[in-house]
Amino acid sequence: MDYMEPITAYVHFPWCLKKCPYCDFVSFAKAREAIDHRGYADAVLAELRKRAEALGERELRSVFFGGGTPSLWEPEEMGRVLSAITAAAGRLSPDIEVTVECNPTSLDEQRARAFRAIGVNRLSVGVQGLDVERLRFLGRLHDPDGGLGALSAALRSGMPRVSGDLIYGVAVGTADEAREQRPEHAAAEARAVASTGVTHISAYSLTVEPGTSFGELARRGRLPLAADEGVADTFFAIDEALEAAGLAHYEISNYAKPGHEARHNLGYWQGIDYVGLGCAAYGTVSRPDPRWGLRAEGSGEALALRYRNVVSPDRYMAVMAEGGEAIPVESDERLDPETRLSERIMLGLRLREGFDLEAAAAALGVAAWPAARRRAAERLERAGRLEVTGGRLRVPRAAWVFTDGIAADLF
Ligand code: SF4
Repeated sequence: MDYMEPITAYVHFPWCLKKCPYCDFVSFAKAREAIDHRGYADAVLAELRKRAEALGERELRSVFFGGGTPSLWEPEEMGRVLSAITAAAGRLSPDIEVTVECNPTSLDEQRARAFRAIGVNRLSVGVQGLDVERLRFLGRLHDPDGGLGALSAALRSGMPRVSGDLIYGVAVGTADEAREQRPEHAAAEARAVASTGVTHISAYSLTVEPGTSFGELARRGRLPLAADEGVADTFFAIDEALEAAGLAHYEISNYAKPGHEARHNLGYWQGIDYVGLGCAAYGTVSRPDPRWGLRAEGSGEALALRYRNVVSPDRYMAVMAEGGEAIPVESDERLDPETRLSERIMLGLRLREGFDLEAAAAALGVAAWPAARRRAAERLERAGRLEVTGGRLRVPRAAWVFTDGIAADLF
């Protein structure tokens, strides 16, 4: 078979039952019955018709329904969208991955089976923790049993791959008397999630983002915060617990049994193009269709377009219902090869195996080793924060907590 460049697709579903105080994703609180399930699917299908060309000559590796809480979406409506995406692709990867992000309050065995029936083969469940007080502090609607129960229901449904999400580095109490999660407790939670039989776990440290309720509390000095040192200890405690449970730490925040790595996310980390659909979705596509309305000047193989669709679900649906050629975007920009290489460095260094800088630079037509980057790499190597083998770069595990800074030194 001829080679076809790989591509992935992301579909944003913008509603949740409740807004969590730490969340800076585009998500709006809405009761399930108040959501226009069909209208939103129609809008995404209308957008897909305009963007289908990007998928046409490509091999589709994965589809990811993220949000928001896409497990709220009626499976029948999600199924219409999924079928149209796979039909638009030039070819489907033989091991195509189709993921739905789920919250425990909108996932039971029956719903998991319904997702399975439309072609979903991976569920990612937001367990986030197994402590009542911490879950409440995070504004979650489920309790520890609800989180573990949702994982078990997903596994019982016959879903081939199930992942659980955890958040660590959370302190509860008050700003003056913050009670931090102890590393051994975080490790015990990770072990408990692993023992359900899931084959993938994501563990993220809590980040306090401006514009969120937590961000506002922090600004006023009223949010209990975990100390950086304790958060780093927790990172390594979880690492130890999950590695011992047979889940390899393959990316800074992700663990998997062999062969169960999240292929969709690997696509981002490896710099593969992705088509974003739905309100607020981002997409990055090389050689985009000129009708997509680029504002920036420039052309050429290595230039890519990064776009973001309009954020408001109402506006997105209204514009899509009007028809017409234009695709409503919040923003779009041309990415030059240097910018793309910086992104590859930032994301590639998050992987345990690192990435091939020289191959990435050659593919983008830019120099891998300008003098400043060479000097920075040598400095980082001497400090034990980087390994350079041939053209490959890798951050040793002991230095993973410094990865963002290491990547910035190499831009
Ligand atoms: S459920 Fe997820 S997407 Fe929705 S508000 Fe909470 S963190 Fe954000």
